[in-house]
Parts: sequence; structure tokens; C-alpha cells
Amino acid sequence: MKTAPFIKTALPGPLATEVLARDEAVTSPSLPRAYPLVPQRGRGASVEDVDGNVFLDFNAGIAVSSTGHAHPTVVEAIRRQAGEILHYSASDFYLPIYSEMCAALRDVAPISGPTRVYLSNSGAEAVEAALKLARYATKRAYVVSFYGAFHGRTMGALSLTDSKAKYHKGFGPLLPGVLHAPYADPRRRASGDRDTATVDFLRDVLFRYEVDPTEVAAIFVEPIQGEGGIIVPADGWMEDLRELCDEFGILLVADEVQSGIGRTGKMWAIEHTSVEPDIVTSAKGLASGLPLGAVIARDEIMTAWSAGAHGSTYGGSPVPCAAGLATLEVIRSQNLLENSTELGTYLLEGLRKLQADQPEVMRDVRGVGLFIGVEFPDGQVANAIQNRCFQKGLLVLEAGENVVRMTPPLVLSAEEAQSGLRLFSEAVCEISEGEFSR
Ligand SMILES: *Cc1c(COP(=O)(O)O)cnc(C)c1O
Repeated sequence: MKTAPFIKTALPGPLATEVLARDEAVTSPSLPRAYPLVPQRGRGASVEDVDGNVFLDFNAGIAVSSTGHAHPTVVEAIRRQAGEILHYSASDFYLPIYSEMCAALRDVAPISGPTRVYLSNSGAEAVEAALKLARYATKRAYVVSFYGAFHGRTMGALSLTDSKAKYHKGFGPLLPGVLHAPYADPRRRASGDRDTATVDFLRDVLFRYEVDPTEVAAIFVEPIQGEGGIIVPADGWMEDLRELCDEFGILLVADEVQSGIGRTGKMWAIEHTSVEPDIVTSAKGLASGLPLGAVIARDEIMTAWSAGAHGSTYGGSPVPCAAGLATLEVIRSQNLLENSTELGTYLLEGLRKLQADQPEVMRDVRGVGLFIGVEFPDGQVANAIQNRCFQKGLLVLEAGENVVRMTPPLVLSAEEAQSGLRLFSEAVCEISEGEFSR
């Protein structure tokens, strides 16, 4: 594969255009396609499309390809496992690799006491399981999540999701008993809105007028909001949330589906705070692209439910487990947490320099490790930047209303980081000349 970026056709190219036409005719129009990328193969942080154009991938398939595309250790583990056994339902029988995967997650859990693990096929399924578990274990009906949150699209997870009204439109009534509160977005406070960057709303409004806190099973929180626009909460907020939960016996559920597995330079984003959650959900980067999700919970919480309360035919299937074990091993052996911190710092510094030159266009640069968001004046500009990056051979993705997100594979090299930063600066300069000189 050529070194990215290598763009040899107009985009989309001729073969990509054929795929787009077929796709248009047969696929569900609900899919929120971003731009006409038609990937054929990938290696590390590079993706080649069907026409032989090679892109530098700062999406990693939406924070999924944590070890990069086709990492040899992961591919080898998948091949080996596929030759042994493809499937046997772990809900009904005892796959050795299932408990091996659970033990590996327990070893890296951001919870100090003993934990247990349930494996699913996706992020939404992990959130569903956590939701059921929280209600079951506490015998309480209500749950709280935050404005801007994304927790998935199945009915329970969708009810917790609150990042865009269109995600809810047409699907109501949603799950009863789900309440929402403002996320601690430090930029809102700075902009002079009501002070929402504290837990006061929960204490003084929600728990006073809407629900008694002793009826709340759990608070679901992304330690850094992903789809909502890479929002890093105000310092101390997670600690205040923990305190509030402890006061009323509420479980704190950290949804680390996007922010976990080394994305922020620590295994879990919540490890940047002093808080331990009661339940963690994981997926996306967990198995480098194979469908695997997980719920990690304190032992006393997960042992509250008994046989038959929850399960899944495919959840924790052997091939995804092999990919998951290999992913955790590669993160360890290749020091990918350090790499995420180092290159994340490099990218954030570079982007902040660029922002200093382009304050009109780049409203904010934020993130931790390789979990980065750049805020633009509006969605149109963010969209234009995203599309210009694509034309230049850099894959980035919109998030929130006006943010461009970067979540490159954790195996990114310094040269690739440099090259991505250069392409992004070019895109910003070109769009800002077009947009702001009129
Ligand atoms: C993507 C995401 C989900 C849903 O995961 P799926 O695998 O798409 O179901 C849940 N929570 C968070 C924080 C996510 O980013």
C-alpha cells in the first residue's frame, strides 16, 4: 500500500461511484453517512479505497481500530481462533476464551475491588445490560443521563442518548424513568449561560422536583462526551457526581465505549479523575474491529442477578474474544497508552498553534490523548472542513453540532501525526479563505 495520503482519482473515484449507486438502492436510508469513503483495505493508520486512493485515517472507523487496521498480532489471533471454533453460545456453555477475556478486563478495570464481566456484541448492548443490571441490583426504577450524551440506539440506550433530537424523533414514547441533566461543559459556563457545570442541577432541581434520589438506580455518564462533541467535563465534576451517588446509594456507570481502551492515554478516561465507577461499559476499541462489548461491574452488583436474568447468543463469541485479548496485549506490549499521550499532546499543541492563527474559524481545540475535537463557528463550516480533509486524503469525522473529531488509531506514528496536522491546517486555511474573506 502507498504511503498516505495518495489521492489519484477525483473523489469519489469511478469504482467508488459504482458502489455508492448500488448502496443507494439497497441499504437502509437511516444510516447517517458522512462522506463517500469506500474502503477496501487498511494497514495501521492507512486506508485504501476501491480505486486505490490511500487515506490517512484519523477516524479509526470511529474509535474502533485501536491497534490500527489489520494489526498482525490481532489478525493472527483471529485466524488461529477461527480455525479452532467459530461459535458456541457462551450464555449456555463454558467457552474457555470467554472467561479469559473477562479476566483480562478485570485486570485492567478502573475499580479497585473484585469485579465481574459480562460480554456483549456492541456498545448499545453493553449499555442495555448495564441499565438492566442497575435496575435489578438496586430495585430502583429511575436512571439519569446527560444532555449531549450518546449511549447507543437500541430502545433503552436510545432513551439515555440525548445528543441530537433527531435520534429520538419518531420513536417515542421512550423508556419511562429516564431523566436528563446538563453535562459539565466548561465552555457553557465560560459563555455566561446558567452555571450548569456543577451537580447543583441534580441536587436542586432534578432531585427536588422530579424524582426522589432514593428511587434513582444509576447515573450514566461518559467521562468525556464523544458524539456530543468531545466535551471534557469541568475539573472536579466527576468527584462531585461520585459524592452525590454515594450520598443516595446511586450507582455510577461510566460509559467508556468510545473513551476507553487507551484512547485518552490511560486505559479508561475516568482514570484521569480520582473517581472509581461502579459499572463500566466498553466496546468500540475493545477488539480492534470485531464486535465485542463489555460490562464490568463490582462483584456485589453483578452477583445480584442470577441465571437467566440476562444473556446473549453471540455476546463474547470466541473470535471477537481472541481479537479482544490480542488488542489488550498489543496495547501493553507496544506501549500504546504512552503513544496516545505523546502524540495526543503533539496534535493538541499543533492544533492550538493553528487556532492562534485562525481564531475566527477554530473556536476551540480540546481533548485528551488521541481523543480530540476542534470546534468551528457552525455545522456548515465543520462539514466543509471534514469534506476538504477527505479530498486531501485525511479522514476525520464531525461530532456534536459544529465539531470535527480526531480519533486516530493508537498505533499512529509521529510522521503520520505530523502529516495529519499539515493536511488539517491546509484544509482550515483553504476553507477559512473561502468562507471568511467574502
Ligand atoms: C458508540 C457509542 C455507543 C454505542 O455503541 P454501538 O456499538 O454503536 O452500539 C455507546 N456509548 C458510547 C459512549 C458510544 O460512543
